[in-house]
Amino acid sequence: MNRLIIVANRVPNPRERGATAGGLAVALREAIAHRQALWFGWSGQTAEATAAAPAETRQGRLTYATLDLGEEDYRRYYRGFANATLWPTLHYRLGLAQFSREDYIGYRKVNAAFAAALAPLLRPSDLVWAHDFHLFPLGSELRRQGCRQRLGFFLHVPFPPYGLFSALPRSGELITDLAAYDVIGVQTEDDAANLRAALIAENQPEAATRVAAYPIGINAEGFTALAERAILGQETARFRQSLVGRALVIGVDRLDYTKGLPQRFCGYGQLLARFRQHLSRVTYLQVAPVSRGDVAEYRSLRKELDEWVGRINGQQAEPDWVPLRYMTRAVSRPTLAGFMRLARVGLVTPLRDGMNLVAKEYVAAQDPEDPGALVLSRFAGAAPQLPGALLVNPLDPDEIAEALDQALTMPREERLARWRPMAEEGRASGARAWCLSFIAALEGGG
Ligand code: ADP
Repeated sequence: MNRLIIVANRVPNPRERGATAGGLAVALREAIAHRQALWFGWSGQTAEATAAAPAETRQGRLTYATLDLGEEDYRRYYRGFANATLWPTLHYRLGLAQFSREDYIGYRKVNAAFAAALAPLLRPSDLVWAHDFHLFPLGSELRRQGCRQRLGFFLHVPFPPYGLFSALPRSGELITDLAAYDVIGVQTEDDAANLRAALIAENQPEAATRVAAYPIGINAEGFTALAERAILGQETARFRQSLVGRALVIGVDRLDYTKGLPQRFCGYGQLLARFRQHLSRVTYLQVAPVSRGDVAEYRSLRKELDEWVGRINGQQAEPDWVPLRYMTRAVSRPTLAGFMRLARVGLVTPLRDGMNLVAKEYVAAQDPEDPGALVLSRFAGAAPQLPGALLVNPLDPDEIAEALDQALTMPREERLARWRPMAEEGRASGARAWCLSFIAALEGGG
C-alpha cells in the first residue's frame, strides 16, 4: 500500500484524540489507520523566520512533520491572503475581500517553503493529498521541486462562479496552479461545475476533466453514540430542566460572517412577532464561539449580534422567559451532541458553506423515535444531501420565520418521514467513506 502524505495548513496535535480533535483529523486518522502516513503542515507556532526543515514526531505508522512560520509569513499568508482574501472570495463575498500584492507574494512564498521542506521527505510511490484553500499553489511548487508523485487537492470551502472568482487579482495563476494536481476534489456538483468552467476559461481543459465532487461526511455512528450518552448526563439534564417544557431551537456555528447569524436572529425575531402562539413556548440557544477575534470584520459582527440579542430579548422576554440564549464560549462535543438531541429544531442558515457539518451532526444526534426538524440554508453544501430538511433562503428573515413555525408545529409522523432517509444517508456517506473514495481516485490512474 502506498504511503499517504496529508498536507494541510494545520496539523493536529498528536496528543489530541477522540472528542477533542477536529472531525477531519478523526476521519483521516481512521481512514489511514492501516497505512504508512505522513501529516505535513504548519505547526501553529510562529518564529522569527519560517523554518527550512520540519520538526518530526512519530506515532506508530503516522509521522507528523510541522514547520514554524515566520511572523511576517504568518501575517501575509495566513491572516492576509488566506483569511482576508481567499476566504471571503470563495464564499461569494467579494465586497469583504482585501487584496494586497505583498500578501499574495507571502502566500506563494509559504507554499514554496512547504514544497521545499516536503520534497526531500517524499518517496517515489507516495500519494500526496493537499487540503484546502491555503494550498492552491502547493502542487505546482512540488512539481517545480521535481516531484513526480500523484498529487491530489481537496477544497473544503465553496468555489464560486468564474465571473466572481476572476475579479480576484492573480486569480488566473491560482487556477493554473490547480492543473498541477492529478485529482481535484470539491464538495458539491455546483462547485465542480464552477471550477471546471474556471479551468476551461484559463486554458486548462484537460485539468477540468480531473475535477469531481466528493461530499464530506461525519462519523455519524460516533456522533449518535455521543448524543445517546450525553442525553443521560447531568449537564443535559440541567439544561432540560431550565427549559421547563419549552421547545428548543439550536444553532451551533463558529462566529463567522459566512454563517448568516444576523439574518438568523432577525428571522427568529420575526417568528416571535408574526407567530404569536410561540411566545413563551420556545427557547433558541445559539452557541457561537469567537473565531478570528483579532480581525475587524469579526469584531463588528460580534457587536451586531450583541445588539440583536439585546433587541430580541428586550422586546420579547418575560420575567420567566428569555427567548434567545446566546453563548460565545466553545462547548465540548459531547455537550453539544446532547443539546442537539434535546432540540426540537436545528437551525442552520449559512449564507454560503462548503458543506456544513453541523447540519449532519444535528441529524445524527436525533432520537429515532422522536426526531427534531432541520431548517437548513439552500446555500449549504449539505443541502442536496439532506432533502428532508426545510430549505430556506438565509437572506430572507421572513422565510426563516415561516420555516421555524412549520418545524415547531410539525407532527411526529412528518418529522420521522423527513428524518429517516437523511439519517440513513448520513450513515452511508460518512467521513471514512469520503476519505477512502478520494484516496481511491488518487491511487486510480498512472
Ligand atoms: P466550519 O468548518 O465553517 O466551522 P462546519 O459546520 O463544517 O463549519 O464544521 C464545524 C465543526 O465545528 C462541527 O463539527 C461543529 O460541531 C464544530 N463546532 C461548531 N461550533 C462549535 C461550538 N460552539 N463548540 C464546539 N464545536 C463547535
